Amino acid sequence: MNIYQNKIFIFIIINYLFLSKILVYITCITIVENNILIKTYKFRAYPNKATEAQTSIVLELCRQMYNLALEQRIMIYKQSKKSLSCYDQQNQLPDFKKEFPQFKQVPSQSLQDVLQRLDKAYQAFFRRVKTGKISGFPRFKGYQRYDSFTLTQYGYKLEESNLILTNVGVFKLKLHRQIPLEAKAKIKTITIYRKNSKWFVLFVCDNIIPKILPKVNRSIGIDVGCESFLTDSNGLKVENPRFLNKSTERITQLSQKLSKQKMGSNRRKKTRLLLAKKHEKVSNQRLDFQHKVAKHYVKHYDLICHEKMQAFKSFRGLNRSMRDMAWFQFFDILSYKAEEAGRKIVKVPAKNTSQQCSGCGEIVLKDLSVRIHSCPHCKLTLDRDLNAALNILRLGTSLQDPTYLNNSNLVNFDNIFVK
Ligand SMILES: [Zn+2]
Repeated sequence: MNIYQNKIFIFIIINYLFLSKILVYITCITIVENNILIKTYKFRAYPNKATEAQTSIVLELCRQMYNLALEQRIMIYKQSKKSLSCYDQQNQLPDFKKEFPQFKQVPSQSLQDVLQRLDKAYQAFFRRVKTGKISGFPRFKGYQRYDSFTLTQYGYKLEESNLILTNVGVFKLKLHRQIPLEAKAKIKTITIYRKNSKWFVLFVCDNIIPKILPKVNRSIGIDVGCESFLTDSNGLKVENPRFLNKSTERITQLSQKLSKQKMGSNRRKKTRLLLAKKHEKVSNQRLDFQHKVAKHYVKHYDLICHEKMQAFKSFRGLNRSMRDMAWFQFFDILSYKAEEAGRKIVKVPAKNTSQQCSGCGEIVLKDLSVRIHSCPHCKLTLDRDLNAALNILRLGTSLQDPTYLNNSNLVNFDNIFVK
């Protein structure tokens, strides 16, 4: 299967951790092909002491494997100017395990996966080189810097809420929802990972049958702005939740504290852990909020229009990049939820959506501080973001099948997101 021929929705959470260090976690990937979904389910996992100890050994061995394989590639290249492929390295695994029997503790597929990850890192590096950037050569992984391993077809069993890994142990899962393993659906891979001393399991499943929602004959335009999280063409404003602002303040305080503390000191370590936990909490809260908002729009509208992402570069102000990432993340959640439910998303060019009058189409110039759109030509006066949302809806629906245009039964969802 060539995945490049399919639509890929990758939903990425970006966390700003440890000041400038940016960690990227992919938590949900949905690939859609002929209405069959590949979906990722994430669960918190609770290993007992013995399992946790053994899992840590497996992770450490995976890390060593990664570093050894990287070293081998570098050496061979230095000596003979030849590149080793992932396939070459995988073929050497049986002999390697005879020589270093401790690696027999790691499931074979997980070791193969380590080599594939290294290969991906190489490919990403070569892609960057092609575009003229000589950076990001694969790096050796430091102690405790290898946090996940993957299994494919065998080596595990799922019994109710227990995940049993052969030679590793038992993880008790918190199954907040069931994996819909009906019809041809099956688990493709399992990834165990550790984050801030917590354990999680990702199940990638394919052949999941989408749950198409019945048509409701409504369409909507969504404008994301500086002041509210978003405004829709029905006039609903979804505010940024207050808890996010509070948490952001605390993160700023902790970051400042961290920057003043002595490198390598215990206090600094403590602050760092606290900061990482706070980041994780905010990221979960934000995700939860965005899921709720996206669910609302997918449930109530067949056609959802929003601006293309590039437009957001023009916003100024504090935490700009975090805001951008929040929208990026939100639109990805919206995309895959829509795809699953058989809803349509239209991305419109962002040019003039806030300057044009939604009543008469004339351009009414205003800067970001002007919150009210007031048109001298047709006398239309309304909220600036609502005007933009109406323009986005008009642009989005103008090229659509007429069945999407019935927008008569407007729904008022005031304050549903305000706690
Ligand atoms: Zn006008």
